[in-house]
Amino acid sequence: MIRVSLSALVTIYLLLFLAAVFLLWIVGEWNRRRREQRALRHRLRCVICAFEFEDRTPTLLPRCPRCGSLNERFKLDRI
Ligand SMILES: [Zn+2]
Repeated sequence: MIRVSLSALVTIYLLLFLAAVFLLWIVGEWNRRRREQRALRHRLRCVICAFEFEDRTPTLLPRCPRCGSLNERFKLDRI
């Protein structure tokens, strides 16, 4: 009787451990994705010279630091 309850306890412990690992993995992946998206929000690519740069100013048309042309804000596709 004690053996059975012990093995059941071990099984429950293992299941809980696996669930915790799985949960941590999901949360970590979710955080990573969110951080990536936040980093990409200010990322722009110049339509003239294809230079990628960051712009955190609220201007509607940020200027490319390489060729000086104005760029429209658009969502950069993930690679
Ligand atoms: Zn440019």
